[in-house]
Amino acid sequence: MNAPAPPFFAFDNSYVRDLEEFYVHWKPTPASKPVLIRLNEELARELGADPAALASPAGIEILAGSRVPEGAEPIAQAYAGHQFGQFSPQLGDGRALLLGEVIDRNGERRDIAFKGSGRTPFSRNGDGKCALGPALREYLISEAMHALGIPTTRSLAVVATGDMVRRDRAQPGAVLTRVAASHVRVGTFQFFAAHQGPEQVKRLADYVIARHYPTLAASAQPYLDLLAAVGERQAELVARWLGVGFIHGVMNTDNMTLSGETIDYGPCAFMEVYSPGTVFSSIDSAGRYAYGKQAGIARWNLARLAETLLPLIDADAERAVQAATAVIDALPERQAVHWLRVFRAKLGIDETDDAEADRTLIDDFLRILKQDRLDFTVAFRALFDAAAGDATRLNSLMAEATDFADWRSRWQARQPTHSPDLLATMQHANPCYIPRNHRVEAALDAAVDDNNLAPFERLLAVIRAPFDERPTDAEYAEPAPTEFTTGYMTFCGT
Ligand code: AMP
Ligand code: MG
Repeated sequence: MNAPAPPFFAFDNSYVRDLEEFYVHWKPTPASKPVLIRLNEELARELGADPAALASPAGIEILAGSRVPEGAEPIAQAYAGHQFGQFSPQLGDGRALLLGEVIDRNGERRDIAFKGSGRTPFSRNGDGKCALGPALREYLISEAMHALGIPTTRSLAVVATGDMVRRDRAQPGAVLTRVAASHVRVGTFQFFAAHQGPEQVKRLADYVIARHYPTLAASAQPYLDLLAAVGERQAELVARWLGVGFIHGVMNTDNMTLSGETIDYGPCAFMEVYSPGTVFSSIDSAGRYAYGKQAGIARWNLARLAETLLPLIDADAERAVQAATAVIDALPERQAVHWLRVFRAKLGIDETDDAEADRTLIDDFLRILKQDRLDFTVAFRALFDAAAGDATRLNSLMAEATDFADWRSRWQARQPTHSPDLLATMQHANPCYIPRNHRVEAALDAAVDDNNLAPFERLLAVIRAPFDERPTDAEYAEPAPTEFTTGYMTFCGT
């Protein structure tokens, strides 16, 4: 007979087991009066947990950090990182804890972690807390990204702790439960390279290979291949961000995963009018992490990862640098391949050998959007509508646009008809609904200021089905008022 399943999660904690010295055992701070704000029931089931048990008083205590469930071995993970180009040798989980890992229903190993569960040895001057607004923001945007088909950490729950946290004003505190393929970051490699040396970096690299890139274990040059494989996943990830107008906002090396998932939803936002220089983050005044800079920053971050791997790549330093440089130098081409695939899908054009001609066609459409200050999401969705047989929206949107008639005939000549498959691909490349910044802020304000979760739940329901147009949700497809976007600023959720 099988042993009965544990009541909450069937933990199996490989990081704790395999990587002692890479973390500190630590307990979450109990919450004074936990209230469940949101539970992702579907994700709970995917993790093999019972949603009803998690929503019970005992489950809420666990999700608040007040009670450590059976089998969990909470740890604060060590990492370093380049923040806005400056190296910080010691960051680490200052307001987060890894509760443990489970094998999900699909056989995938997933981390279950808290954000906002109190101070740890890595907290420096921070309080280790998270305010309710930023917790709900991460929940909303990460679930939107998932619905858009973009690799991302997920959100399992938000619990209000009943404790106030001090920010620019006092705000209700919360714990977000985050689920990730793992929390290993470029900054994790940097920590061990800076403090310990190649032997420890090798242990970490072997762990990452086993967990995320198992086919590389048999490679003759596993660490060089690891660098290339991480580069490939990041190239694909950033191309997908660009395809939906996502601006991460804080692409520090500690916010870039080895798994290829989007992580750390702080000052992120979605672009409205197409403009590559778009930045919303209050702390990114130089525009380092602007929409159009993200591919370049990913390469910069991967070069930092490469530096940590050099001693593993080749004992001869010069040869190691040569080999790693070749991988980094190949990234622009890989990024271009993924970008072209994403934007061909957005234009509804099939794959051909003439990449250059297609790049020009895509660039010319983007130039029209930029010149005429058109909303990125609306304009591409209008192209889809036209391809699907209804050009009303495209016609009115482009009525005044210079050069559009010419572009349109080129587009139509390139792809005169759309097979059902091509049309379906196009639809799934062009969401009707994204989490518009003004809607996100309104939902969070209602939740935090008025204790009213209805706008949050409504927005969540809309963005969970982004590709099917629904007349009842028409207002959610509309851009923000220009005045809103002009003054819009996002903040690191600290
Ligand atoms: P982030 O900007 O969210 O990627 O966080 C960067 C670093 O600051 C990480 O080491 C976090 O753990 C730490 N940190 C951010 N906010 C807090 C906080 N409120 N208390 C303690 N540490 C924090
Ligand atoms: Mg971070």
